[in-house]
Amino acid sequence: MAKIMTTTAGNIVGDNQNSLSAGSRGPLLMQDYQLLEKLAHQNRERVPERVVHAKGSAAFGTLTINHDISKYTKAKVLQKGEQTRMFLRFSTVAGERGAADAERDVRGFAMKFYTKEGNWDLVGNNTPVFFIRDPQKFPDFIHTQKRHPRTNLRSNTAAWDFWSLSPESLHQVTILMSDRGLPVGYRNINGYGSHTYSLINDKGERTWVKFHFKTKQGIKNYTNAQASEVVGKCRESSQRDLYESIEKGDFPKWDFQIQVMSDEQAKNCPFNPFDLTKVWPHADYPMIDVGVMELNENPANYFAQVEQASFSPSNVVPGISWSPDKMLQARIFSYADAHRYRVGTHYEMLPINKPIVEVNTYHMDGSMNFAEPKSTDAYYEPNSFGGAVEDKSYVEPPFGVNGDGYRYDHREGNDDFSQPRALFMLMSDSQKAQLFSNIADAMDGVPDEIRNRQIALFEQVHIEYANGVRKALGK
Ligand code: NDP
Repeated sequence: MAKIMTTTAGNIVGDNQNSLSAGSRGPLLMQDYQLLEKLAHQNRERVPERVVHAKGSAAFGTLTINHDISKYTKAKVLQKGEQTRMFLRFSTVAGERGAADAERDVRGFAMKFYTKEGNWDLVGNNTPVFFIRDPQKFPDFIHTQKRHPRTNLRSNTAAWDFWSLSPESLHQVTILMSDRGLPVGYRNINGYGSHTYSLINDKGERTWVKFHFKTKQGIKNYTNAQASEVVGKCRESSQRDLYESIEKGDFPKWDFQIQVMSDEQAKNCPFNPFDLTKVWPHADYPMIDVGVMELNENPANYFAQVEQASFSPSNVVPGISWSPDKMLQARIFSYADAHRYRVGTHYEMLPINKPIVEVNTYHMDGSMNFAEPKSTDAYYEPNSFGGAVEDKSYVEPPFGVNGDGYRYDHREGNDDFSQPRALFMLMSDSQKAQLFSNIADAMDGVPDEIRNRQIALFEQVHIEYANGVRKALGK
């Protein structure tokens, strides 16, 4: 027998088809609370969309560790043989919630691991680097990717104006405009933690680390022309591909690898290893196999699980920690803050965000606090009433800092050209041709002054790069 419908207070609904009216043709009565509740709830069905990474798709899966990296980390989630349930949300960055999937854009690759020691969130992208290295520039950069305040159109001029005035963006711009800037679907991209993090072993020794997830489905990309055709037929091409492949039991997998760097190596590294616009060359810092990640379960409810999923690089577990990367430092604040605003103060109580371990904080009250109230006198800390206490054995080992407090020019002495050059040199002739033509497409309508400023930067990467773009622009 079907269950009986109720209001949110559990009051039984007698009629869900006909509103309460004064006479059959008459106006409605204020006391029809069921109707008022339905309309009021409908008005509140949407939460604000994410300012960035608004359009996404996600799935549950498993992280399995097959190799012993205990000399680097004591984290339980990274010990050989460990299997951890996880949730991975892919996304585009600039488009709104209704944007098409097959657009040239970076893809978000945000992972939440529900570990035995609390949640570990690794909130990465499908690119190993980013456009900027100082978080001061993040809101400005994002404004250039969103809509122009007057025209309400996306602005190529704003994007290239910002990039051409920010040479640190060259590496990421080259990746975005390359064949890999427009993936066929989420199964066909690599994931990168991008920032430098640290691993801490049971002796309290810290090693710097980069996290990589290499797709086992192969990298697959669309050309701009192919993508236009796809978008004309289906705006949810990546969502459909991911959902349908998991539904039919074809579970996508990624090889999980790390690169490591000792503190001594970091001090002697010719570039700043904590700079988000730089990779660590594989030849110097070889990839180390760790395990496999598999996605094997579709979400049951898009809103409850995908839309409310809230990832933050502030969530780390013992044995995994941060680095001095300035972008990472800012994200530790800004991600959790975005969720408190967008989803609500207690967003981590929601089932999709809730850790599998017991949570014991002394935070109090706040809107939508749905924790069961405990009858206790221990509502502050320290207390004499048996409340939760700190455990000093979990304090991280110290890390060295030096220098005077100052607004250091992050461009001074920084080589923004060698790494994009290394990438350019890896490209085949056909990949270079695609790069030039993708840039020319993306520069449509951009004033010559801005184009020329950007081409001068390409020239410092490689003369062939600048000439190729000039030719594609018909110059
Ligand atoms: P390697 O030759 O050892 O590695 C090159 C890497 O570039 C591979 O990981 C390859 O991925 C990746 N790659 C190839 N084409 C593209 C593209 N269009 N966009 C993004 N990545 C691509 O060289 P190095 O480690 O010395 O790095 C050289 C350059 O390669 C770097 O400057 C950087 O631009 C790029 N790169 C480096 C990475 C790193 O962590 N070292 C990671 C990703 C890119 P795959 O193996 O999947 O084909």
